[in-house]
Amino acid sequence: MLDYQAAPDLLKDKVILITGAGDGIGRQAALSYGAHGAIVILLGKTVKKLEAVYDELLAQGSPEPAIVPLDLQGASRQHYLDMAETLRQQFGRLDGVLFNAGLLGVLGPFEMIGEDEWDKVMQVNVKSQFLMTQALLPLLKASAPASLVYTSSGVGKQGRAYWGSYAVSKFATEGMMQILAQELAGTGVRANCINPGATRTGMRARAYPGEDPAALRTPAEIMGPYLYLMGDDSRALNGESLDAQPDRLRPRGH
Ligand code: NDP
Repeated sequence: MLDYQAAPDLLKDKVILITGAGDGIGRQAALSYGAHGAIVILLGKTVKKLEAVYDELLAQGSPEPAIVPLDLQGASRQHYLDMAETLRQQFGRLDGVLFNAGLLGVLGPFEMIGEDEWDKVMQVNVKSQFLMTQALLPLLKASAPASLVYTSSGVGKQGRAYWGSYAVSKFATEGMMQILAQELAGTGVRANCINPGATRTGMRARAYPGEDPAALRTPAEIMGPYLYLMGDDSRALNGESLDAQPDRLRPRGH
């Protein structure tokens, strides 16, 4: 899957929303989707980062993107409904969503997880996806075929000590995707998960401060499966959870 070769026009004229588009994997997905013709809607918390990605997209000759400044921590149902209406009015369609934004939270013993910390992680990693999916589904169904891509993790499939609220949130994400995939079958909207695997980003560095980042693949090196899941080449895929890099670590010499 890592070596998937996307056609240059794979996402031509498609309108694709990416959460957490200002940094890390989301930033790279925005650049890659834009490079394959998509009109990218950049959603995130830090507007300066989104503006930088906006400028990069224009500089590389991609279609003009749009910015949605939104802190998933505080966003309510109404924020998502308003966003859906704005997208409908401005673009008239929505062909895909990459649910990528995520919060690592504090890693540590389960017995020590603070209630506030738990709530924060669940709000950003789970509840925001629930509310956003509900709000966007009418537009997605009207634009079918459409692709929902949720972001999982190795600790969302097999629990791991000290990964508490983050790991639980990723199990929840896998479950949400499976439920949606079954319920949406036949609507032309499909739902799948991607586990990026160890990738050289700020979040990974926070989780593994002693690790050599050079041993990890960069976001640019794992874009094959992100393009595959968003484009029509994967149209038969629904309810699947893909590992972007089953071999995990970057081969030596890269
Ligand atoms: P980064 O921390 O580099 O980027 C996360 C993005 O999410 C940032 O753009 C950030 O915005 C955004 N974000 C965080 N909180 C909020 C919020 N409250 N509202 C809006 N946006 C928010 O993480 P990665 O790129 O590494 O991770 C991307 C996804 O991949 C996550 O879901 C993560 O769990 C998953 N993942 C990553 C792995 C890795 O090795 N990197 C491995 C397995 C899974 P801002 O910069 O403005 O805070």
